[in-house]
Amino acid sequence: MTDRCPNCNAWIYSYDKGHECPPLWLVQCPEYDDETWDEVYAVAAEYAAESWAEEHDRNCSYMMLDGETIVVRVKRDPNDGWCVDNIMMPGTDFKTFTCSGEAVPTYTAEEIVEETDDNN
Ligand SMILES: [Zn+2]
Repeated sequence: MTDRCPNCNAWIYSYDKGHECPPLWLVQCPEYDDETWDEVYAVAAEYAAESWAEEHDRNCSYMMLDGETIVVRVKRDPNDGWCVDNIMMPGTDFKTFTCSGEAVPTYTAEEIVEETDDNN
């Protein structure tokens, strides 16, 4: 039995009793909107940028899969309680990332059931 965390939207398995949401980041894309910072839960700034870019690209006809890149800024949410040495401290200046996409080929196989010939 799985469910999604109402907070960070991560999959939570019934045997996973100790779910803790990852740090909260704020992501902004100055090319599109230099006012709004969107909230993204991720284990690191880089993954927050990737997650934001993926969601953005889904809403923009997958331009990034055609080679477009976007630049985003990522900073810690100043109100987030996470405090880990190897990630940026809340409220510090943003980091800047260039985001690009790549389409991964996927192959599927589906059995074709031959129709039986009733005339024989
Ligand atoms: Zn969560």
